[in-house]
Amino acid sequence: MNTAEKKVPCQPIAQLLREGTQLLAQAGIEGPRREARLLLIHALSLTPEQLLARSPTENVPSEPFFSYVNRRAAHEPFAYITGSKGFWSLDLAVSPASLVPRGDTETLITSLLEYRPDQTAALNILDLGTGTGCLLLAALAEYPKAHGVGVDINPQAAILAHANAQRCCMSDRALFMAAEWDAALVPDMRFDVVLSNPPYIPTSDLADLMPEVREHEPVRALDGGDDGLNAYRYICSRLPFLLVDGGLAVLEIGIGQEEALRALASTNVLRVVDVKADLAGIARAVVLEKQA
Ligand code: GLN
Repeated sequence: MNTAEKKVPCQPIAQLLREGTQLLAQAGIEGPRREARLLLIHALSLTPEQLLARSPTENVPSEPFFSYVNRRAAHEPFAYITGSKGFWSLDLAVSPASLVPRGDTETLITSLLEYRPDQTAALNILDLGTGTGCLLLAALAEYPKAHGVGVDINPQAAILAHANAQRCCMSDRALFMAAEWDAALVPDMRFDVVLSNPPYIPTSDLADLMPEVREHEPVRALDGGDDGLNAYRYICSRLPFLLVDGGLAVLEIGIGQEEALRALASTNVLRVVDVKADLAGIARAVVLEKQA
């Protein structure tokens, strides 16, 4: 054994999986065996099939596996450890600059497809609070002739979203910028579609979120103010100026916010076209239209 080999401690695959599972279980992680296996796959840069094909007695490096396991045991989101997350048809880079894209948020894309079924349309799309860019990029993937702008208050998120546009080969159709909502947009610029998953958790509820969210995801992307509605008040007040006549807005909402959104829509002369539930049956996507 040469000196370089000595520096890398190795253990049998079965033992790593056993110890990793145990550490994750002790930390209260759901599905500890599954997560340990996925972290080992990531640590060894293997596919799931390649790991299955290995003998459980084979010795493999125990790092970075154990550092990943310890991060996960401290409730860091799985996607921040692996650095990527699937959203819709895309594989996106993630970082603590932005929320990890949620499956619930895909409800906005199914809603958009339902109300704008012509996928050859050259839509001009705005994504407010874009984060990873997931909503804008998923929409652009579905409408190959569309283009759009994604805005985030955090410059690191705008950089991340731009990297994701390049990763998904859509950087010729997506412009990302750091700004407060629409403040930096050209005045009078109108969009066919506005998408947004704004912060909507009431400030007093933040402490009750799961540790993955509370301790690791950016609070600015979550905190919706005293009643959780601050962002919607601003966005709904601006939609009449951001949408073309007949334009569509699809906004994500939190649990129990449907009625408040309906009220904000009517105050701002926006028609509520539909409210779509996510896979858990929770009203999640509000579809609004600016009447001509
Ligand atoms: N759905 C997210 C959560 O439950 C919150 C996202 C948001 O505030 N936009 O953690």
